[in-house]
Amino acid sequence: MNISELFKNKNCVYSLEVFPPKKVGSIETVYNTLYGLRGLPVDYISVTYGAGGSEQQRSKTCEIASLIKKEYGIEPVSHLTCVGSTKEEIASILASLKEAGIQNILALRGDIPADSASTGDQPVMAFHHASDLAAFIRETDPYFNVTGACYPECHVDAANLDEDIANLRKKVDAGVTQLTTQLFFDNEAFYRFREKTDKAGINVPISAGIMPIVKKTQIERVVSMCGASIPPKFARLISRYSESPDALYQAGLSYTVDQITDLVASGVRGIHLYTMNNVDVAKYVTNATESLIKSVNRKT
Ligand code: FAD
Repeated sequence: MNISELFKNKNCVYSLEVFPPKKVGSIETVYNTLYGLRGLPVDYISVTYGAGGSEQQRSKTCEIASLIKKEYGIEPVSHLTCVGSTKEEIASILASLKEAGIQNILALRGDIPADSASTGDQPVMAFHHASDLAAFIRETDPYFNVTGACYPECHVDAANLDEDIANLRKKVDAGVTQLTTQLFFDNEAFYRFREKTDKAGINVPISAGIMPIVKKTQIERVVSMCGASIPPKFARLISRYSESPDALYQAGLSYTVDQITDLVASGVRGIHLYTMNNVDVAKYVTNATESLIKSVNRKT
């Protein structure tokens, strides 16, 4: 099923994200995660693609997406990055995805390896931007539905948010039917972004990417990785509870549920939960927000 149909039929689409573990031999983690998530009211599940990972790890994305579809009857979205890949390699991955019946792709550039500038060892760049990859997929086979990523607080490589949004418009013009945001903790940043994307004529549905922070180790790692700003309410929570694992766990879940409650009330078109393969967290948040999402999807 083309997931753009879900966005046509629902006011708010609810999705989860899982990832194939980096360590060879720990693939069972994601299988256990999917087993644990069975039966939850989820519209689709996306599977990340390990840019720069081993070939074995990359091929797992297709395998896991296929399992989600065949074993659990849920529509999968397969992430696909283009940095470091030739056109032929991408074409071959597309052929495997089609063979496995995977129709939805989140087209990404991927992160440019940090050491490429210093070593002069430039990665293969058959596609410079996600928009180039999206256009290639659309041209290769109209079977695929292509979605993309966006950044409410600006992508790190862009000079400013206006420039980033102008580039995002190119991605939509290349045929992307839906966007999912980078994680954020400040809903106001998302609302400002949505106003700007509306003004820029970006009229595809935008799902809010939400990551529950339930452990101290996540805080610095996540914030330094994606540059999400910390609003005062979230900062107070971290400062008060970061030394009490149980309290931080509970407070982190409550913050996520509050965030989603406000987003759904504000008419967000989708909630995309970064599960980090944590079944208990995904179950808690999904169950706690199910009635909110149902209420906006109820036919009037
Ligand atoms: P792009 O859309 O190409 O944007 C990258 C930069 O280039 C931006 O600064 C943008 O403003 C600029 N740009 C874009 N188009 C143009 C243009 N036509 N001309 C000039 N400048 C342009 N990474 C993984 O490795 N695997 C994953 O599975 C994965 N999943 C993700 C899922 C989501 C929802 C998100 C938000 C991110 C994900 N990432 C993943 C991270 C992502 O690969 C990085 O953030 C990467 O640095 C940018 O990818 P992109 O597709 O957004 O790039």
